[in-house]
Amino acid sequence: MAIFETLNEMGHEQVVFCQDKATGLKAIIAIHDTTLGPALGGTRLWDYANDQEALTDVLRLSRGMTYKAAAAGLSLGGGKAVIIGDAKKIKSEGLFRAFGRFVHSLSGRYITAEDVNINTSDMAYCSLETPYVSGLEGKSGDPSPVTAMGVFHGIRAAVKHKLKRDNLQGLRVAVQGCGAVGKYLCGYLHEAGAKLVVADIDEAKVQAMVEKYGAKAESVKTIHAADVDVYAPCALGAVLNDETIPQLKATIVAGGANNQLKIEDKHGAMVLERGILYAPDYVINAGGLINVYQELKGYDADAAKRKAAGIYDSLTAIFQESDRERLPTHRASDRLVERRLASARAAIPLRNTYDNQTWIRR
Ligand code: NAD
Repeated sequence: MAIFETLNEMGHEQVVFCQDKATGLKAIIAIHDTTLGPALGGTRLWDYANDQEALTDVLRLSRGMTYKAAAAGLSLGGGKAVIIGDAKKIKSEGLFRAFGRFVHSLSGRYITAEDVNINTSDMAYCSLETPYVSGLEGKSGDPSPVTAMGVFHGIRAAVKHKLKRDNLQGLRVAVQGCGAVGKYLCGYLHEAGAKLVVADIDEAKVQAMVEKYGAKAESVKTIHAADVDVYAPCALGAVLNDETIPQLKATIVAGGANNQLKIEDKHGAMVLERGILYAPDYVINAGGLINVYQELKGYDADAAKRKAAGIYDSLTAIFQESDRERLPTHRASDRLVERRLASARAAIPLRNTYDNQTWIRR
């Protein structure tokens, strides 16, 4: 990989390779963009096949965080870190403290959090060395209720835009996955009067939704093709693909799962061609990030939920841009983010060292 060429193309500001011989730490911290604020994003621990794969992953994930934060209207930039190794073998207090010292060396330009294979105790070790850690135990806690709340408001926005309706009374929604996000989403939808169809590979989770909310159980194989108004994927990625898109009966796809379009541009265009309104995943599922952001400002669960309600307006702007420019919604969203970044860049010509207090006051 021609590294600087790639960084230039993807727009990264800084990539830090971290090594600590004593603990075996090998990590990469990628700061994509700090125009809007410090780069926030979790640390993933993964046994990558090689260093190149780790670098590719951290560059892609950190850029995704910039877009997610910007689309959610947060004063945050995008960053991510990866620690290379086998989660079952390499974890130790020393390793996470060493990683924490690297995070601290960036003086708040990067704020870390949990991601795949990292838990709150790992982050607690990190926090012994640096205050630039979020999502610690006893702070903002489980993000899923706020994520689900954001998805609920996203569905409201999509229903208003596509079906010209202000309420969800009698609306038929298929929820794929009744896990942490899906089960809370079912609760909010039920309260709003929607009729639920649900599927999960875990029968007990389906049964709970049937008993609590009168949901109808559907097979995991056919949930995407259910005869409903809204399909809400809340389990796996790549659920919008060559096979599923022609089978959709819903005219709205709006759910919490990450990476719903299997091949972004191809399947985003296919969904548009079928006249289906797709709520871009990174916008509608930003509630978790909003929750952590709130923690940085002094956690208040109600404030986090209020902020997640703003996803309604963010999505409405994206849907309008998509109509105006005849663009798939994920492209319309990227365009709005890029516009916000460009205008903020013009206002803040260069931020060399980040004063963490400045953005907290904003
Ligand atoms: P989870 O593991 O709690 O729930 C996922 C559920 O999907 C589980 O109940 C699982 O049994 C079910 N499932 C797995 N395969 C399935 C299949 N083939 N068909 C139907 N159900 C299936 O995870 P979660 O935290 O609820 O996250 C769900 C999705 O939302 C993921 O894509 C995640 O990345 C994304 N997301 C979550 C949050 C959050 O705050 N938790 C934030 C942003 C995005």
